[in-house]
Amino acid sequence: MIGQLGEGAKFIAGGQSLIPLLKLRFANPEHLVDLNFIPGTSFIKEDSVALRFGAMTRHAEIERSTLAQKIPLLHDCAAGIADVQVRNRGTIGGSLAEADPSGDWANALITLDTTVRCLGRKGARAIDLRDFIKDAYTTALEHDEVVTELEVKIPPPGSGGAYLAFKRSAPVYPSASVAVQLTLADDTCQNAAIALGCVGLTAIRATEAETALRGKNLNDETIAAAAEAARAAADPQPDMRGSADYKRQLVVALVKRAIQIAARRARGEQVEGAHLYA
Ligand SMILES: Cc1cc2nc3c(=O)[nH]c(=O)nc-3n(C[C@H](O)[C@H](O)[C@H](O)COP(=O)(O)OP(=O)(O)OC[C@H]3O[C@@H](n4cnc5c(N)ncnc54)[C@H](O)[C@@H]3O)c2cc1C
Repeated sequence: MIGQLGEGAKFIAGGQSLIPLLKLRFANPEHLVDLNFIPGTSFIKEDSVALRFGAMTRHAEIERSTLAQKIPLLHDCAAGIADVQVRNRGTIGGSLAEADPSGDWANALITLDTTVRCLGRKGARAIDLRDFIKDAYTTALEHDEVVTELEVKIPPPGSGGAYLAFKRSAPVYPSASVAVQLTLADDTCQNAAIALGCVGLTAIRATEAETALRGKNLNDETIAAAAEAARAAADPQPDMRGSADYKRQLVVALVKRAIQIAARRARGEQVEGAHLYA
């Protein structure tokens, strides 16, 4: 249908990004193709290596899912997006397709091994999330392609993650957010993935911060070194949520806290991670 209607048509999923844009007259599509009527597009499944999320799965369904809790960072992310109304309508596929630099899902999922499955008139394709998000509000999707599914590899034993966002109140986007995914052997960090949100045009992988942890014992010194490297990687713009320096300072605090929660989870502890409010 989207192919027949041409460039003037747009998909609508939960409408939680698109409807506000329509109301502000920033988007003006001639036609909306509603994905809500397509059966079988909302699901959470597990196979031997991955969790699979249908593109139309709502944030609230992921928040409530015991399967999704196998990767605690996913539960942190889903539970902290906006308020109950937005979480009940907004979808994980819509969030990635929107590629809002302040959106939570891309930042959380980029620390995991995530594949975006898409379908268009030329057929199906699987895109690594790192190649899917091209820029702010820009993805690798063709106009007639729909996101159908996200595949998230289950991290190896000894892994734990945390997703923390700092926001002024529930129904606003974060001022800064951080995702950390670690794999530990005893207290040595075997692998680390750290991503920063809302402090650049896309989620930023803080690779120097990851290097500061990899192969090291986790202690105050190595965690502080990683947080400082993350501060250097952040590229925030000043706006109504705070100055650039303020956001860099938030990154430092969030990275330290997220590493600590991720490490405790990697050791098998049940830790409640929650978004932080000013
Ligand atoms: C008050 C408010 C606060 C919010 N706060 C946050 C927040 O803190 N963090 C956060 O991450 N998000 C936040 N959001 C956004 C919310 O998470 C949206 O649900 C999400 O960004 C878009 O998902 P959607 O299903 O609503 O997509 P829609 O709004 O329906 O669509 C968004 C875009 O994606 C396209 N699209 C949708 N689904 C697909 C698909 N399957 N394949 C291809 N293209 C598709 C549409 O054509 C459109 O261009 C907030 C929204 C509101 C209204």
